[in-house]
Amino acid sequence: MSNRELILSTGNINKVQEIKDILMDMPITVLSKEDLNIRSFEVEEDGETLEENAIKKAKALADRVEGMVMADDSGLFVDFLDGGRAPGVHSARYAGCNATDRANNDKLLKELEGVPLEKRRAKFETVIALVLENGNVITVTGECKGTIGFEPRGEKGFGYDPLFIVDGYDKTFAELGEKIKNKISHRAKALNKLKKAIMNIMRDE
Ligand code: IMP
Repeated sequence: MSNRELILSTGNINKVQEIKDILMDMPITVLSKEDLNIRSFEVEEDGETLEENAIKKAKALADRVEGMVMADDSGLFVDFLDGGRAPGVHSARYAGCNATDRANNDKLLKELEGVPLEKRRAKFETVIALVLENGNVITVTGECKGTIGFEPRGEKGFGYDPLFIVDGYDKTFAELGEKIKNKISHRAKALNKLKKAIMNIMRDE
């Protein structure tokens, strides 16, 4: 197996660290855009699906660097809202462009006002796109199921974490904290699949 580079399209330092941790035992050097001094890199996330956005982001960066490139896109999908499609691919900007997490959570609670617990089922989903050196694209997905609570609980995490009560735990992601979340989250599941996919690719070479 050769040592090679994997460049991450995300600028989120928490994600960069999570990915580095999961791929730590692989013969791969994980680099962020910042490691490569790539600054002005913005891709409009205008796809209809998480997969479209992930592939678009990964390909845009792959055009500028050498090595494998990965990008991820995630969202929250609530069964009761728009046939399970909302906030979905628009999760980051549910309450409008540049919306804060607080505004998005407030909007979600408003949309679910009066909806009983059993109808508040939801899932987080992540799609990761990997562009190989030869231009081939691989995608993997991960999901995590739960229920949307009636009020925010917990201080940790980000985004919809304070409202998302994870199946199997009577706690929100914001109450559980990073250590547990990073073992069971949608992103962790997708990353573990990505790791297996990369191992297979490297073994076959
Ligand atoms: P991204 O594609 O990972 O940037 O996620 C898009 C949006 O989905 C975020 O801005 C959050 O609103 C939401 N989201 C994604 N993953 C999570 C999570 O693990 N917890 C809470 N919210 C999340």
